[in-house]
Parts: sequence; C-alpha cells; structure tokens
Amino acid sequence: MSTVSFIPKWVDFHCHLDLYPDHQRLIRESDMEGIATLAVTTTPKAFARNVEMATGYPSVRIGLGLHPQLVAERAGELPLFEKLLSQSSYVGEVGLDASPRFYANFPDQQRVFERVLCACNEQGDKILSIHSVRAISTVLRALEAHLSNRTCVPVLHWFTGTKSEATRAIELGCYFSINAEMIQEKKMHPLLRWLPPDRLLTETDGPFVKFGYRPIRPSDIPATVELLARLRATGGSELALVVLANFQALTLGKPPSPPANQLHLFEAV
Ligand code: MN
Repeated sequence: MSTVSFIPKWVDFHCHLDLYPDHQRLIRESDMEGIATLAVTTTPKAFARNVEMATGYPSVRIGLGLHPQLVAERAGELPLFEKLLSQSSYVGEVGLDASPRFYANFPDQQRVFERVLCACNEQGDKILSIHSVRAISTVLRALEAHLSNRTCVPVLHWFTGTKSEATRAIELGCYFSINAEMIQEKKMHPLLRWLPPDRLLTETDGPFVKFGYRPIRPSDIPATVELLARLRATGGSELALVVLANFQALTLGKPPSPPANQLHLFEAV
C-alpha cells in the first residue's frame, strides 16, 4: 500500500503508464520516489481501468484521452469521453497529428479535438495534455477559438514548433512538458533554452521515448531534469524546484484521480 501523504519532488506530466507490462510497479515507484505522474490514456474506454490501477496511489493522476492517432478507429468513443469528463480534472492525450500516416483523417481529428475543447470549455477547471505533431498552428487556432475559459490550461506535450509559435502558445496560457528525446534533439536547443521558466514542466512520454536502450520510466525524470538544467545553464535542483512550483500552481485544488468506487460509467463499454 502507498504512504498516506505524498510529497511530490518530481513531475512526469505525460506518461502512458498503462502501456508498460509492469504498470503496477511503475505506480508504486512514482509513489515511493515522489514523482507526480499524469497517466494519460489514449481512449476513453481505458480511463476506468487506469483509475482503478491508481486508486490508493496519490502520486498518480489519470487523464481522460482520445489520441489523435486513434481517431480513425475510436472516434465512436467521443460520447463516452463527454460522459466521463466531469470525473476528471485532467484531459489527455488529445490533439492533432498531421504526419503522413494520419493526415488522411485530419478533418475527423479536428472535429473530435474541437468537441473535446468545447466540452472542457463548458465544464471548466481542466488541464489538457496536447499532442501537436506537424499541426501546432492548427492546434493553437483551435485553442483560440474553443478554449477561452481561463480555468482550463493547455499543456503542450512534445512541442516541436518555432519560437513564434511558442510565443503565441505562451500568450494563450500554455505550459510545455519537455521530455528526454526533445533534449537530445539539437535543433530544439535554442527553444529549450528560451522557454520561460514559469511555463516549464517535465514528462517522459514513456514507453514511447527511449532512455538509452530501454523505454523511459517516471523514475528517469531526475536525470531528465538534470539534462534540461545543463542545457539551460542552471542547477538541477534549482530547475526541479521550478518545475515543481509550476506543477503545484497548475494543479492547486485539483484532486488526484477519483477513487475507482466513485467512478460512474454511464453505459456498458
Ligand atoms: Mn504520448
């Protein structure tokens, strides 16, 4: 069982815990090592099982997601997304993907993303973890058009846009969650040095990101912070505190995941 009070030291704001074979062990690791972990999901159907897995572990929060790369097969789960939304303060992974493999259904992705944003905007008090591969300007336009509710905060996960796009995103109130692979990418360095400290978060995007030859884990966040600190010419412990303060400001008043026994599924899935 987990410790009763959880004191976060580190932040993994985008991790697919349910895609690891040893997910329960990762949840225990997050709790023991003080890593506040946002477990994003890729389909609304996965939400309930994720909540169940994380119940009793205060380090883990569950995002309700509908991944843009899965919209082709899973757009039919949009009504389930809307029904479950009131049970989560966290939304993700959602967004748009205009890379060649997924471009064919880009209009469907846009329709789904707009509905996700409108539903969040209506309920308020949501933090969104957003995918924007080759689609950052469309994502920013959608945020401008459909997410005016200031109690909702977009977090751009694995941002790969330009400085001027980042400036627009900052004006819209976006945060940026930075992972180890972004830090390895030399052409990202000027942007990673330039991003304002008060908008920085860290993530693993595990198991998709590799750390050495194995899938990254939330327990690799301290090393990720160290790499980012070196790049930004600051101290690791200093940056860790900055990220933690950002996380706390962002999630203030937001409870961790609902206990599994309070989760109401409105329809059989
Ligand atoms: Mn992801």
